Amino acid sequence: MKFKVQLVIESESGEIQSTQEVAQIEKGNLQPENLGLTLAVAKELLLQTQRSIASQQIAQYQKQQELCSHCDKKLRHKDKRTIIYRTPFGKLQLQSQRLFHCACKEQSTRTFNPLAKLLKERTSPELLYLESKFASLISYGLSSKLLQEVLPIEGEINPTSIRNNLHALGKQLESELPEEAGVLFEGCQRDWEQLPQPDLPLVVGMDGGYVRFYDRASKNSGNFQVIAGKSIKADGTSKCFGMVYGYDTKPQRRIFEVLKSQGMQMNQQVTFLSDGEESIRDLQYYLNPAFV
Ligand SMILES: [Zn+2]
Repeated sequence: MKFKVQLVIESESGEIQSTQEVAQIEKGNLQPENLGLTLAVAKELLLQTQRSIASQQIAQYQKQQELCSHCDKKLRHKDKRTIIYRTPFGKLQLQSQRLFHCACKEQSTRTFNPLAKLLKERTSPELLYLESKFASLISYGLSSKLLQEVLPIEGEINPTSIRNNLHALGKQLESELPEEAGVLFEGCQRDWEQLPQPDLPLVVGMDGGYVRFYDRASKNSGNFQVIAGKSIKADGTSKCFGMVYGYDTKPQRRIFEVLKSQGMQMNQQVTFLSDGEESIRDLQYYLNPAFV
């Protein structure tokens, strides 16, 4: 039996503009292993569909950019260059055209490249998300192998690129974390009394452990303390956090923002579970008015 998979491109009004063949699939006598799509065929199907859809989107976008946004005059082409854009469904090689600015308005440059400007980051947000998600759970090497096993990106990612992307993302998240403050909770007793009835208490478990520095050559290198914790809402959903104590410049802010992202109200109780370790106890103060 033979199957053809086609991509039918329609205009906004529903008219068929073109039909592209994406894949041909042949099936022999039915066996358990050839029922439906195989992983290899599914990956090829995703890759070809991604390329077809993306090329249509790019063509339409570049056509829209060819007209001056001020006077609607058609802009002159200068040249083309190839942009590599990495997605979960394969690497795309996109032809990006450079255009001359219109003479109707003064510009700081003679030419511009609309697609290169639009795709400033050359890795799609979804691929970055997948890389970061798995790299936070397993090693960079295993993350790379796992993603290549299930997605059509063989040879297109490696542990180093995942590590670099994850570090860049970490830096960005770090820069978005507000400053540390002596007292993190907000408002006063009068404000808290006016808040709606809070949810049941948040339960936060925290513990720490000492890790010896990797650089064992130096006897003075000593240990550092890693603190990790989990905050659990009454409905069972939870979030984890972690830090290196003494190195992290915003340890309480980090925990406070996790609790806030779980909807912690200033009139809500928070139950902390930890051992008597002083550094961990200190982190719990001033996060919530119920625990000062
Ligand atoms: Zn113009």
